[in-house]
Amino acid sequence: MSSLISNTAATASLQRGVRRVRHELKMRLLQVRRVEHVTPRLLRVTLAGDDLEGFTSAAFDDHVKVFFPAPGQDRPELPQLGPNGPAGPGGPDATDTPPTARRDYTPRRYDPASRELDIEFALHGHGPAAEWAAQARAGQYLGVGGPRGSMVMEGDFDGYLMVGDETALPAIARRLEELPAGARVCVVAQVADAKEEQTFRTLADLTVRWVHRGASDDAVTSNRAAPSGDAVVAALRDLRLPDGDIYAWVAAESSVAKAVRAYLVGERGLNKAWVKAAGYWRRGAEATHDKHED
Ligand SMILES: Cc1cc2nc3c(=O)[nH]c(=O)nc-3n(C[C@H](O)[C@H](O)[C@H](O)COP(=O)(O)OP(=O)(O)OC[C@H]3O[C@@H](n4cnc5c(N)ncnc54)[C@H](O)[C@@H]3O)c2cc1C
Repeated sequence: MSSLISNTAATASLQRGVRRVRHELKMRLLQVRRVEHVTPRLLRVTLAGDDLEGFTSAAFDDHVKVFFPAPGQDRPELPQLGPNGPAGPGGPDATDTPPTARRDYTPRRYDPASRELDIEFALHGHGPAAEWAAQARAGQYLGVGGPRGSMVMEGDFDGYLMVGDETALPAIARRLEELPAGARVCVVAQVADAKEEQTFRTLADLTVRWVHRGASDDAVTSNRAAPSGDAVVAALRDLRLPDGDIYAWVAAESSVAKAVRAYLVGERGLNKAWVKAAGYWRRGAEATHDKHED
């Protein structure tokens, strides 16, 4: 990853905590350099362009706002940055017709030398982002805003737990690449089926459990059944976590993330200050980001 990531690791104090780092907000118009499938339903889009100059992502669970071209247009409207933040077409209160869709995505990899930014899209098939990704090809334009800030974890824990679905896999895979040798980490990942399992690159001591949704609860091809979280919690029940203090990170469909957090804090006795859980999407709703806390 970028040099900033290694600087962050080098300056991390032994005291545990999360340090908020703010970044200057910039809007960038980028072009697709290439696309490749990580798995059949996870597409890696490599974006490039001079606008990436100065791009910074200091934490594995950062997010950028991705702006998609409206129907009939070849490039997205990007908001103007004024004293009160983003405004105008593409801004949060925009009334442009047709509206410019914007969605949250994880900066999976940034290479300052080649000025390439990778974003991985779950091909779930139901909204402007997933529909754009399904037809993505080199030369097309996307807008990227942010990240506005990063929550950088400092200090070492005895073990790490990461739980999530396809939308969390870019952050999980990035985190695994960043963890040092000897770190003990467990991953529980829920995906459609065995074809969606990916091989992670890591120096850490990694245990992975894949949970398959199966045909009756397939969030990628069907929008009917609400995922309950039961299958993920069942996998967690069977999982032996490293002894000592655990930092847990959870991102998935909102009700699943909530159920997993309740299990980890209520039944497994994890310190709730060290369980970070977020809904990266919500069944039946567009563009949500739920933070599950007490
Ligand atoms: C901080 C953050 C980081 C994220 N990083 C990533 C990332 O790196 N990669 C990634 O793929 N996603 C990521 N997401 C999730 C992504 O923003 C949402 O899935 C988003 O809703 C996709 O937009 P859309 O236009 O495809 O669907 P929307 O228009 O938002 O929703 C349309 C319909 O699709 C459903 N839906 C949305 N997402 C899914 C899904 N994954 N599976 C099944 N149904 C779905 C909704 O419930 C709704 O009914 C992240 C979200 C957050 C908050």
